[in-house]
Amino acid sequence: MKSWYKIAQIIEPHLLSPEKLNDVPGYKYDPNLPSEGQYIDGTVVLGPKAYELSPEGRKNVILHEHSHELDSRMSQSDQMKILDAADKGILGERIETPNGFYLKSNFTGQYKPNEIVVDAYAHLMGSAEERSYVMSRAPKVAHLAMDIASRCNLVVPAPEWDATHSSPPNSYVLKNGFYSPV
Ligand SMILES: [Zn+2]
Repeated sequence: MKSWYKIAQIIEPHLLSPEKLNDVPGYKYDPNLPSEGQYIDGTVVLGPKAYELSPEGRKNVILHEHSHELDSRMSQSDQMKILDAADKGILGERIETPNGFYLKSNFTGQYKPNEIVVDAYAHLMGSAEERSYVMSRAPKVAHLAMDIASRCNLVVPAPEWDATHSSPPNSYVLKNGFYSPV
């Protein structure tokens, strides 16, 4: 399995122009994309809104979109765990509206159950600051995101995993501060 976060560190896709981005496998620029980014079949797609952001902001969008790999791999049972966490108020305060409810998270602007968990994983795969931010603001969400990631054969950060678990994930090896699937 390729470690996208390492590749992203080497080529720094957030610093590339839309034209150059199209030359990088796994990335695409779509001039008609209505959102900042999207994750489609393993490809991170950026739109014009992503290019209105600072490179640092764009980097966060890219990390978030990559983290949607969690969505594409998770089982029905993990999906149920996320909905259960939403019901219990673990993902954020439930705000009722005439059209249903949304979640008010205390670490991200995301308001849908899956988006909040995906963004927790993005934070955990981000800088030391972002990791400690999610670990202190939303430890239960971070824990849930890591558990799901480990069941999806995705990399998890070792210090944060060790802080919340008594043993490493099954069939994972420690490499450069991350637990990676064997
Ligand atoms: Zn998203």
